[in-house]
Formats: sequence, structure tokens, C-alpha cells
Amino acid sequence: MIVVMKASANEKQIQNVSGKVQEFGFTPHVIKGVESTVIGVIGDGNRDRIQSLVNLEGVERVAPISKPYKLVARSTKEEDTVFKVRDVEIGGDTFVVMAGPCSVESEEQIDAAAAACAKYGATVLRGGAYKPRTSPYSFQGLEEDGLKLLKAAGDKYKMPIITELVSVDTVDIVAEYTDIIQIGARNMQNYPLLRSLGKIRKPILLKRGLSSTLDEMLLAAEYIMAGGNYNVMLCERGIRTFEKAYRNTMDLNAVPALKGMSHLPVIVDPSHGTGRVDLIPALSKAAVAVGADGIIVEVHPKPEEALSDGPQSLTPAMFEDLMEQIKPFVAAAGKKLVILK
Ligand code: PEP
Ligand code: MN
Repeated sequence: MIVVMKASANEKQIQNVSGKVQEFGFTPHVIKGVESTVIGVIGDGNRDRIQSLVNLEGVERVAPISKPYKLVARSTKEEDTVFKVRDVEIGGDTFVVMAGPCSVESEEQIDAAAAACAKYGATVLRGGAYKPRTSPYSFQGLEEDGLKLLKAAGDKYKMPIITELVSVDTVDIVAEYTDIIQIGARNMQNYPLLRSLGKIRKPILLKRGLSSTLDEMLLAAEYIMAGGNYNVMLCERGIRTFEKAYRNTMDLNAVPALKGMSHLPVIVDPSHGTGRVDLIPALSKAAVAVGADGIIVEVHPKPEEALSDGPQSLTPAMFEDLMEQIKPFVAAAGKKLVILK
């Protein structure tokens, strides 16, 4: 159920309703919109009593949520979710570019990558420190040393950073260094990991599982939001199909579909979505055209020497060209490219 508050409702009335929701055995989730506030009523309490909330001051209506996912649903909150990561605004009418190497490999490598990404207009620096590799014999990441190097590069170039979290054991350490936590495709349905993110207040970029439906992805986001962490971005990163000409099939249908189903920002990852640098500019422009709120791409100073995902990593010159190519598309979509101050 949701309790929709009147536009004129004040903080005291919102708190009063939340208190009643709790009294009836549910957890209240206060979701503030521009027009009005909605209180999500989640859990297994006394349903009969919820309807009586309509008589409380400041309440507009009490309505059921028919979807399996609730807090993430567009029907729960009509306006786009917009949040800030340091000075970078994500969602709404902004377009964010996150870029950097697949893995943090050394101080020189992450510094060179960050310098190029900042110079050509990325606003968030990416880099993996804990790598979920298909083979146990592949490079697994520099772990905490990688987090330190990524943070130092982010601080130097004044970029917020994003890095992947792969295990509940490292939530605290990863959260200590990073501005945004990435949950990779392989962990999209790792429910203990998702639950652990509900308890922290770092924004999350949740990647679509390799064979996940949109409903499954939205329910994964619901796990995070049900814990009280509302700053979640959804990321389309390609799915497994029969086609072998590229690493994955970029499902761009997902972007407008997800935007209709949910109020959360949607980011596209054309690097993993295609696995081919020659396809990244076209798919990035297509991502803008279908309504994405940003892209995340892999950039490496020397892709031929990369310890992971070299074949899909853009050189600094290719990244510069990509940024020039997407600018008119971002403007045509009525969005503002987020620029670092
Ligand atoms: C990555 O971002 O480097 C990564 C491993 O992505 P995905 O989880 O989408 O495969
Ligand atoms: Mn990668």
C-alpha cells in the first residue's frame, strides 16, 4: 500500500502517518517528491487498519500497489529520482558520463586514465579493485590497495569514484573509500549482498544480470530500497543471447521500458554491452536517444596492456572522440551534460 500525502502536508503530519504505519506493524518508507510525499507501507502488518489512515490530517489517499516491486515503481513516485554524488547530479534532466579502466592496475595507470577522463569531460571515475572474473586464474584486482589508488586519483582530479563491491565481507571497506558502489551483473541476485546495501547510505549502481528480466532487476533494486537506501541507479549492460558477433546484446529496449516502470535513473554500459570499441560510439548515442541518464565506459591509457577487458577499453583519444560525438545527442534529448566544477 501507499499513503499519498497532500501537497500541503507538513513534516509533523508525515511523521504522524509514519508513526501509525509502524503501530500497525509495517515499515514506513517516506519518499519525497517535488509535488507531494508518498509513504510506502511495506511488510506484513494489519492491512485492515491501513485504510483508516485516510482520515488523518494531511492524507490525500491510501492506495494499493499492484506491482511486485513497490518502492522502485513509477506508480509509487511519479517524478524521476534525482540525487547528488558530491557535486554531480544524477537523474532528471542531466546526463552523466562515468569512465575509467575496468581494473585499477597501478598508480601510473589509474592516474593516466583519470587525467584523460577528466580532461575530456567524464565526471565520475570508475575502476575495479575487487574483480569478479570468469576464471579464477585471471587478475582478481588490487583490493584495498586498488581502492586507495582509485580514491587518490579521484581526489586529484576532483572526480567522485565508483567501484564494484563483490562480497558482504568488504561492504565497510569499499564504502569507506568510494562515492558510488557498483553491483555487477554476476551479483545482481546476491540477496544478502543487496540487503547489506540497504543499511548504508552510499548511492548504488545496480547492473542487470546476464540473463535477468527487467522484473528481476527491479526486484533486486527493491531489496536495496526496502532497507532504506533510496539512491539506486539501474544499469543496462547487455544480456546473453545466441549472437556471438559481440560479447553481449545491448538491450536498449530496457531503457525506455525501465523508465516507464520505475522512477530510478537508468545508465547504459556500452563497453560490456558490446565488448567492442568500434561499436561503443554508436551505442552510446543510441543510449542517449532512448532516454538514458548516463553512460559508464571503460577507458585505459594502454588497452593492449590492460589486465582485464582490454579489447573493449577505449584509448584516451577514442574517449575524446566519443565525448564529441555524444554532445549533440545529449542536447537534442533535452539533457545537460554534467560538467565538473
Ligand atoms: C565491470 O564493470 O568491469 C564489470 C565486471 O561489469 P559487469 O558486472 O557488467 O560484467
Ligand atoms: Mn570490465
